Amino acid sequence: MLDVLRRIIQEVNSARDLQSALNIIVERVTEAMGTQVCSVYLLDESGEHFLFMATEGLNKTAVGHVSIDLDKGLVGLVGERAEPVNLDNAPKHPRYLHIVEVGEEPYHSFLGVPIIHHRSVLGVLVVQQQEVRRYDESEEAFLITLSAQLAGVIAHAKATGAILGVHELDENTPSATFDAAPGAPGIAIGTACVCFPQADLNTVPERKAYDIDHEKKKFRSALIATRKEIRSLSRKLADRLPKGELALFDAYLHMLDDNAIGGEVIRKIKEGYWSQTALRKVIDKHIETFTVMEDSYLKERASDVRDLGQRVLANLQLSEGPREEFPDDTILVGEELTPSMIAEVPKQKLAGLVSVRGSANSHVAILARAMGLPTVMGAVDLPISLLDGQPMIADGFEGRVICHPSKEEYAAYRKIVLEEEAFVEGLEELKDLPTKTPDGYEMTLCVNTGLMADVVRSLDRGAQGVGLYRTEVYFQMIDRFPTEEEQRAIYREHLKAFAPLPVTMRTLDIGGDKALSYFPIEEENPFLGWRGIRVTLDHPEIFLAQVRAMIRAHEGLEGELKIMLPMISNVSEVDEALRLIGQCYREIIEEGVEVEMPDVGVMVEVPAAVYQAKAIIKRVDFLSVGSNDLTQYLLAVDRNNAQVAGLYQHLHPAVLHALKQVVDATKAARKPVSICGEMAGNPGAAILLMAMGYDILSMSATSIPIIKWVLRSVNLADAKVMLKHVLKMDNAWMIKNYMDDQLRKAGLGQLVR
Ligand code: PEP
Ligand code: MG
Repeated sequence: MLDVLRRIIQEVNSARDLQSALNIIVERVTEAMGTQVCSVYLLDESGEHFLFMATEGLNKTAVGHVSIDLDKGLVGLVGERAEPVNLDNAPKHPRYLHIVEVGEEPYHSFLGVPIIHHRSVLGVLVVQQQEVRRYDESEEAFLITLSAQLAGVIAHAKATGAILGVHELDENTPSATFDAAPGAPGIAIGTACVCFPQADLNTVPERKAYDIDHEKKKFRSALIATRKEIRSLSRKLADRLPKGELALFDAYLHMLDDNAIGGEVIRKIKEGYWSQTALRKVIDKHIETFTVMEDSYLKERASDVRDLGQRVLANLQLSEGPREEFPDDTILVGEELTPSMIAEVPKQKLAGLVSVRGSANSHVAILARAMGLPTVMGAVDLPISLLDGQPMIADGFEGRVICHPSKEEYAAYRKIVLEEEAFVEGLEELKDLPTKTPDGYEMTLCVNTGLMADVVRSLDRGAQGVGLYRTEVYFQMIDRFPTEEEQRAIYREHLKAFAPLPVTMRTLDIGGDKALSYFPIEEENPFLGWRGIRVTLDHPEIFLAQVRAMIRAHEGLEGELKIMLPMISNVSEVDEALRLIGQCYREIIEEGVEVEMPDVGVMVEVPAAVYQAKAIIKRVDFLSVGSNDLTQYLLAVDRNNAQVAGLYQHLHPAVLHALKQVVDATKAARKPVSICGEMAGNPGAAILLMAMGYDILSMSATSIPIIKWVLRSVNLADAKVMLKHVLKMDNAWMIKNYMDDQLRKAGLGQLVR
């Protein structure tokens, strides 16, 4: 059964569009179950009917014309109950609905299973037979399993159905909207520019050729290079492989010939495609042909074709080099965006970002907020390979992407942009005012940085220092570990730019979703693996060089340097890190450099550190809560996973109680405590954090004016009442609603989204 299921899913996955996907489903299910009828009904646009979308066995001319109200018929019953209905004699059932056009009179047995995606019923999959008999358990199990797997594929096909390839695009092309998650606030109106990882055929976008002859030439050179590679590989393996296996290399060479794949790609290029797109199309077609073959030997040949395609692609990309031309108002779209992809686009041309993977708490979203770039995350249904060069709006407030927007949509979004500009201008007046509540309590607002580019924005927005400098961003932009001297220069620039304000530098925090191309970490469970301090204590040479660079960078400068340790989960890590920092300091003093020993603090990002806050604060000068990770680990919700993004809640009672515990432990030791996770930039949360007693809130530059406005509008005494109330609540949604109400009452309703 597994094999049949896998084959059907594979075929459906490679279907061109929704209708072909549904046709494949009904045909294959009929065959696999040996049943007489299989049909698919899907919820229509209005959400009020199930539309008869595909059938094998019933009247095909009724497809697309017959619809059933949600509360009618057996199909409606399956949808209503969201569970299977299995009947031996359907016409006898009180909910049986006779629709003449469909032609189901001869059929008695009926098994309908719901197609459910993200808790909503998308449609119903039905099989029918003449015989009066109940489908048996194994048949029911088969259909349920298939339907569960198909739901995602159908949802994706349905969502992408509105998008046409770039070649069909004209002014009549309807707009298509994709719901995702907000990543960084703002609206980007521009042109999609798809970036994709190298040597991955699946991600090559649909792109037109600007110069067909040039594309043909590039492709021919790539073929020559690939042939050379294959011949050399064959020679190297000649004495290690049997003759039969070596013949595979000859087969590869033949496949590249003009009368095979090579020629087909050239023909596609002549049709007007960019060489990489042409190659992907041809390879995809061949893979599809092999995949559906019954014979398992032939089926396996699909992976040979894929391998060959990847090789040619790698050679094509070598000659291509990085993209140099970017449209004005580029909206960078990618499966998974990285800091170096973002850095490739000239700053003045980058309008926004859209990422298929990740969620609001992924590091790329955090970086985008720091840069003030409107960003949408987790756009899982976006058919990115079709979007290159298409007009697009990215709505970073609501987490929405609109492809080839209509005139009305452009007008509506331009209005939002103007309103937003006026709002931000209004807040600029607050820049030099203190963050003082109406009842006279003053808070310190710091900024989280990672790039030099953040500095001007941060100072412009009135940051009172850096609460978190993510040093790893610089490590991610280059292609080897930086030397101590290179680091010293970069850190000094940062310290100088903020002097005399304090700067808190975090030691290298790689692992999880922060990879270094030159130091790959392969793990099953990266967020529970080798991350942050765990990596640097295992590599003291990296840690020592970085800490030395930080301390030396501060020589002769005004303003305080603080060092902070990420991902601490036990006190021995703190002890070891302090020992190494002490060693660095002594060495530097012995070298004759006059510097002060910086304050050292620990980030509370792991539940263990919450429970050990008392023991940790005894050892160091301050604590700073990394609420992004703390929320992830307390709630067991991957901060990067769009599927569970709704469960990632800063205002969850467990998070709030943990935060309170950290403040209480630090205050008892009479030491300062800050928070540098994204939560500090959330209006409702900021009020509660102030009430708890956090001394410093550190956030992205974009959030500073907003949080200043919030805290200048709410009395500390009132905030304390809210906190007392909230700490008694046991439900994150209730807490959010309560805080939204409080914001509205304080005249801050504009911030409730
Ligand atoms: C955090 O986890 O809250 C934090 C500030 O660190 P990062 O987001 O870089 O993991
Ligand atoms: Mg963290």
